[in-house]
Amino acid sequence: MKTKRFILQESEIPKQWYNILADMPNKPLPPVNPGTKQPLKAEDLYPVFCEECARQELNTTDRFIDIPEAVLEQYKNYRATPLVRAYGLEEALGTPAHIYFKNESVNPLGSHKLNSAIAQAYYAKQEGTTNITTETGAGQWGAALSYAAKAFGLEAAVYMVKISYEQKPYRRSIMQTFGAQVTASPSMSTKAGRKILTENPTHQGSLGTAISEAVELALNTPHCKYVLGSVLNHVCLHQTVIGLEAEKQMEMAGEYPDTVIACFGGGSNFSGLALPFLRHNILDGKKTRFIAAEPASCPKLTKGEFAYDFGDEAGYTPLLAMYTLGHTFRPANIHAGGLRYHGSGSIVAQLLKDGYIEAVDIEQLDSFKAGVLFARSEGIIPAPESCHAIAATVNEALKCKETGEEKVILFNLSGHGLVDMAAYDRYFSGDLANYNVSDEEIAANLAASGVVSI
Ligand SMILES: *Cc1c(COP(=O)(O)O)cnc(C)c1O
Repeated sequence: MKTKRFILQESEIPKQWYNILADMPNKPLPPVNPGTKQPLKAEDLYPVFCEECARQELNTTDRFIDIPEAVLEQYKNYRATPLVRAYGLEEALGTPAHIYFKNESVNPLGSHKLNSAIAQAYYAKQEGTTNITTETGAGQWGAALSYAAKAFGLEAAVYMVKISYEQKPYRRSIMQTFGAQVTASPSMSTKAGRKILTENPTHQGSLGTAISEAVELALNTPHCKYVLGSVLNHVCLHQTVIGLEAEKQMEMAGEYPDTVIACFGGGSNFSGLALPFLRHNILDGKKTRFIAAEPASCPKLTKGEFAYDFGDEAGYTPLLAMYTLGHTFRPANIHAGGLRYHGSGSIVAQLLKDGYIEAVDIEQLDSFKAGVLFARSEGIIPAPESCHAIAATVNEALKCKETGEEKVILFNLSGHGLVDMAAYDRYFSGDLANYNVSDEEIAANLAASGVVSI
């Protein structure tokens, strides 16, 4: 009998995260102070971030970092997640490729985001913080963080991108169920929000505006720390639990991936699955391909500039080395809210620059088409973000069909789409469009953002 799902025991959940900073031949460029242009030390990040997260952010020496006991206890609620052989999708495509997916949609919050939310809430609590604040796009991060905050007895204030607040009201309800306070961003409750709204009264919000508001709240509120759902090195670190499990599970399947694929917003689910495998390219001469699938409407990896830029719209964050479309970029209102971010994290940016990974851009309609095919062949409705990874997987699998190659493809099912059915409804009614950004628009936005090329 063929095995469909590869399952690890509770005792096999990894006890450490993998820190690729220790192994990268070229370290990512450090965050710098926008005023002095000096590289930041961990202490410089303490006013905004939890101290342990700030130290992890800059830790380039420890290859593995222990997962705290209390975090492991929370992981046991939903980990290890299954690795699944997508026989149904293979058959639907008629491909000789072996397609596997890591199913991060099985936790009750519905996405991989919980892996870092739990860790960050734990560290905040440990350090005497009482309140945490954050941004959320489509709401998966906000939902995960709201639960994690409650689990560790913290108050959470979430700024939710306005377009998603309106498109995905049930994610707001989920956050409120866990006791979080949710505000649509841009809002009139912060200086950054008021400035954006007075200049642009119909601004639909972006992750950049929501981050500005959350950072401002953290800076102005005692015992309040800001936590981020992606982009930063420590978030990618926490997500490596995905790839470390997948490594053991691929071994159970008796295979090793030729191609690893994940969708790309800021880089955390991609990093989570890819980095543990990528270490074998760096250290052991493996030749796995790593493909980040981003939306054509927000193409920072395929069309952005490698540059120092702000992580938020108002320019409150340190300057980060990233592939960026400019921090004032306003992405089209696509339904994959979690992918509407102007930049990539520094680790992924450096890996792309050094040729360790590749990027592709996916049109909105192609992403839903692939998502529906996956749903009908595997019985799981994927998140609109995850549909981008599926579309890239389908493209690779169809290439194998042409060449007859039996490649092993592994992708990350970063979340389910059960709270995104309004987006599917619009797709079925022919109401969704593709959005492309021209090179001229990108160049103009980079110039307007004052981005410093590297
Ligand atoms: C947030 C999110 C993403 C994109 O974020 P990354 O930081 O790139 O991982 C992808 N899929 C889902 C389901 C998400 O919630």
